[in-house]
Amino acid sequence: MSALNLPKPAWRTEEHDMLAESARAFLAKEFTPNLDRWSEAGVMDRDAWIKAADAGLLSASIPEEYGGVGGDYSHESVIAHEIAMAGADSWGWAIHGPIVAPYILHYGTEEQKKAWLPKMATGELIAALAMTEPGAGSDVQGIRTRAERSGNGWVLNGSKTFITNGQHANMVVVAAKTDPSAGAKGTSLFVVETETAPGFRRGRKLKKLGLDWADTSELFFDDMKLPAEALLGPEPNQGFYQMMRALPQERLIIAAGAIGMIERALMLTIAYVKERGAFGKKVIDFQNTQFELADMKTEATMAKAFYETCVGLHLQGQCDTVMASMAKYKLTDLQNTIVDRCLQLFGGYGFMDEYPISRMYRDARIQRIYGGTNEIMKILIARSL
Ligand SMILES: Cc1cc2nc3c(=O)[nH]c(=O)nc-3n(C[C@H](O)[C@H](O)[C@H](O)COP(=O)(O)OP(=O)(O)OC[C@H]3O[C@@H](n4cnc5c(N)ncnc54)[C@H](O)[C@@H]3O)c2cc1C
Repeated sequence: MSALNLPKPAWRTEEHDMLAESARAFLAKEFTPNLDRWSEAGVMDRDAWIKAADAGLLSASIPEEYGGVGGDYSHESVIAHEIAMAGADSWGWAIHGPIVAPYILHYGTEEQKKAWLPKMATGELIAALAMTEPGAGSDVQGIRTRAERSGNGWVLNGSKTFITNGQHANMVVVAAKTDPSAGAKGTSLFVVETETAPGFRRGRKLKKLGLDWADTSELFFDDMKLPAEALLGPEPNQGFYQMMRALPQERLIIAAGAIGMIERALMLTIAYVKERGAFGKKVIDFQNTQFELADMKTEATMAKAFYETCVGLHLQGQCDTVMASMAKYKLTDLQNTIVDRCLQLFGGYGFMDEYPISRMYRDARIQRIYGGTNEIMKILIARSL
C-alpha cells in the first residue's frame, strides 16, 4: 500500500515487509479506534505503551541481550513510516526507541545498559529527552540546568520545557552543565528515574497547535539528589559530544515521519478527488487537480528516494550531519507544503476535523521546528559549502 512506487532499496528485505505489516495491524487494532478519544483527552493511554512493547515496537534496535528485538535503524524507519501512515503522529515513540535507547546503548556503561534497556523494551520505563529550556532551544550551549557534585553523586537543579512524553515518562535523559566555565564542553547527560527521585516535578501539559495527544510538558528538578550511576557514561562533560553524535539518527527519524505523512496525504487526497463531484465531473477530472497531484507525486518520489539513500548510508555509519540535516529540513518542508496543497483539494471539508487531512495540517507544522529548526539545519548544511 503506497502512493509512491519506488523499487525497494537494497537494505529493505522481506523481514522489513513483515515488520511493516505487523506494525500496521497492531496500530489498526490498538491505536486507530482510540485516536479521537486520546485527542479529546489530550493524552494517550499508558497501557498502549505496554501493548506496543509487547508487539516489539519499543525495542526494534535494542540488542537481544538487553531484551530487545535486535534490529537496527532500518527497522525503526519502517515502524516510523507505519506510525505516520496510521495518523499516530502525536505518539512520542521516536523519542523512546530510536532516540533515547541509542544514547544508552552507545554511551552507557555495561551496568547502565543492563539496568535500563530491558525495562525500556518492556515499556516499564518510558523515556523522555530533556534538552530544551525556557531560555535555550536552538542554542543548546545556553542551557542553565546545573548538576553539581555532592559526595559520590550529583545534585540537579533546573527546568526544561516542551518535553515530549513529559507526563508518561519515568526515565528522563537530562542535559545539564557540569562545568559551566567550559561552555559546550562542560555539558553532561544524566538519566533520571523519576519514581525514585525526590525533587522531580512535572509541570503543565502544554496546550498546542497540533499533536493533540502528545503529553508535551515542562519538567522541574529542584535540589534533586542523583546517584553517581545517573551520569550517562563513565565520565562527565561528554554530553555535547554524545548529543552531536546522536543527531543524524534523530534527524532521519523525523524525516521518516515526514515521508510517511506525505504518502498518507497523497493516498487520502487521490481517493477523495476520485469521489468528489463538481460541475458534473469528478474533482480528479480537472486538469489543475491532475497537475497538482502529478507535481506532488514527483516531488514526494524524489524525496523518498533521497531519504532511502540516507538510510542506506546511515546503516553503514556514513550518513553525516550534512546529509541528515538535508533530509530533516527538506522533507519536513515538503511535508508541510504537500499537506497544505492536499488540503486545498478537499475544499471546505479539508478544514473539518472529521477529515484526517485537517489534523495532519496541524500536526505537520512542528516538524520544521523540533529536532533542530530547519534554519539550524541550513546553517549546518552551509558549513559544508
Ligand atoms: C511539540 C514539541 C515537542 C518538543 N519535544 C522536545 C523534546 O522532547 N525534548 C527537547 O529537548 N526539546 C523538545 N522540543 C523543543 C524544540 O526542539 C525546540 O523548540 C527547538 O529546538 C527550537 O528552540 P526554541 O523553541 O527555543 O526556538 P529558538 O531557538 O528561540 O528559535 C526561534 C527562531 O530563531 C531561529 N534561530 C535560532 N537560532 C538561529 C540562528 N543561529 N540562525 C538563524 N535562525 C536562528 C529559529 O530557527 C527559530 O525560527 C519540542 C518542541 C515542541 C514544540
